[in-house]
Amino acid sequence: MSKGREVRNVNRQPLPDLPDLGEDRRHERIRKKKRKRRKRALIRITIASILLAVMALIGLVLHFRGNVGILSPKKKIVAERPPIDVELLTINPYSRPGIANDGVKAVVVHYTANPGTDALQNRNYFESLKDTEETYASSQFVIGQDGSIVQCVPTAEIAYASNDRNHDTVSIECCYNNEDGSFEDATYDSLVYLLAWLSGRFDLDPETDIIRHYDVTGKLCPLYYVENEDAWDKLKDDVADYIEKNGSYVDPEDVREE
Ligand SMILES: [Zn+2]
Repeated sequence: MSKGREVRNVNRQPLPDLPDLGEDRRHERIRKKKRKRRKRALIRITIASILLAVMALIGLVLHFRGNVGILSPKKKIVAERPPIDVELLTINPYSRPGIANDGVKAVVVHYTANPGTDALQNRNYFESLKDTEETYASSQFVIGQDGSIVQCVPTAEIAYASNDRNHDTVSIECCYNNEDGSFEDATYDSLVYLLAWLSGRFDLDPETDIIRHYDVTGKLCPLYYVENEDAWDKLKDDVADYIEKNGSYVDPEDVREE
């Protein structure tokens, strides 16, 4: 019994603190594995971060493509069409010949030379010509003193307003009340909006492609904007400003319609 205890006691003697090489190698291997795992995790996180950053960048580019010129070479245009009361004339030889134009290269601004009338009255006058046969006259658009816009002839068709340029322009007749021929604010604002929209729709430059009846024939039309060159220049500047402020980068092809 006592012998056995002794044996156990011998067995309980602390083992000499000798380096166990096998154990150390195992630990080293585990540490190496852990390091490798950490390295791989780090690489995976880095790749994921780069992917996320690239995706975020693509998202940003797509998001701002419609608004930022630097990212999109397209032209800034006013795509939203102003409110237009479409009251097309009956096809007839005197005001709506129903002939396709050669594409719109400019927009011609006129005044009705008929103070105090409104847009619909002028449209109805054009319509009446099919019966009275008294003259050839019409316009794609008429803007009233209250700013309302009436369309009489489709923009793809010829109207009888601008002589030699009927074949490649659209015309806007403006109602007025003042003796000097100047437009009411409401008329002016609608004119700016309509010109801005048409500029985008037909890929026109407001500075060169918005013209007066005067520029075609020398007729004093629109009177105030012939007699006041500054007011005419300001109108074109106002259209350019309107496009800059309210336009977006959209392909003009996307907004073309009849
Ligand atoms: Zn005119």
